Amino acid sequence: MTAFTLPLSYAESGAAQAADFTSPLLNADLHCHSTASDGTQTPEWLAAQARAHGVQLWALTDHDEISGLAAAQAAAAREGVAFLTGVEISVTFLDKTVHIVGLGFDAGHAALQQGLARTRGGRQERAREIAYQLARHGIEGAYEGALQYVGNPDLISRSHFARYLVERGYCTDMGDVFRRYLTEGKPGYVPHCWARLADAVGWVVDAGGCAVLAHPARYGFHHVQEDVLIDQFRQCGGVAIEVITGSHRPDEWLRYAEKAAAWGLHVSRGSDFHCPLESRYALGDLPLLSASQQPVWALLQDRIFWPD
Ligand code: AMP
Ligand code: MN
Ligand code: MN
Ligand code: MN
Repeated sequence: MTAFTLPLSYAESGAAQAADFTSPLLNADLHCHSTASDGTQTPEWLAAQARAHGVQLWALTDHDEISGLAAAQAAAAREGVAFLTGVEISVTFLDKTVHIVGLGFDAGHAALQQGLARTRGGRQERAREIAYQLARHGIEGAYEGALQYVGNPDLISRSHFARYLVERGYCTDMGDVFRRYLTEGKPGYVPHCWARLADAVGWVVDAGGCAVLAHPARYGFHHVQEDVLIDQFRQCGGVAIEVITGSHRPDEWLRYAEKAAAWGLHVSRGSDFHCPLESRYALGDLPLLSASQQPVWALLQDRIFWPD
């Protein structure tokens, strides 16, 4: 991967004068997707969007993939936006898929790169199987149809299938596709074994970053299972929970803010932006954290790439 320049120290940067980057009130957006995974926009477009929406600290977090980071970092520097490396790792935990966001790691770290490559590895076969299952339910050409939307051949995801099903009028929108076809118990759902929790957290931590439990409300765990997840996540070295995310409803923002505080974990914020027509929140357009919260970015000050 392209070599990253060393970040300036906090004191050296112009940004240091402009804002307190340890503040929970920073407009940080630390979760979004580009064409390197299942987003429809390029890293350059996202960087411009981050700036246009007043994002002060930005991370690109493609699924199981860091190939967009070099372009994102360069574009962030041009746009004058402070930047953190990021990734969203797919994990299997208690038979469900859980997402771990990694932030501020060294993108050149070999174990992280190898772990992500292994995690991506099964996606092609899974996609063929999804298409086969959909064909058995009367939807032809889904593999080729999904491929039209794929920006990175290594990273074919359910989102790409969903876009094809909407295009062909099988479903009205993305949510409709997932409800009727692509989730557990539905015709196009293919179970998959992703990374282990301890491995995913370990890759991020060993590469010098922070591991964040992404959108915990989306997993459908009962309270007891969710507490097992959070406990194990913490024991593996995880340090934060994503609270203010476009993948949570407002009542969930509150619930997980309390949960993070109860577990002594830091909190994170990010839109989970994928596409202008699909995503509920644009980059940075979420409520801020509250002044009493401990933001994950306070732990990542020496990992920030400051703009020139
Ligand atoms: P995959 O990694 O291939 O299993 O695809 C997971 C992606 O599907 C997520 O990252 C979301 O972008 C998308 N997704 C999952 N559930 C939904 C949903 N209910 N509505 C819209 N997109 C969804
Ligand atoms: Mn996604
Ligand atoms: Mn996710
Ligand atoms: Mn995401």
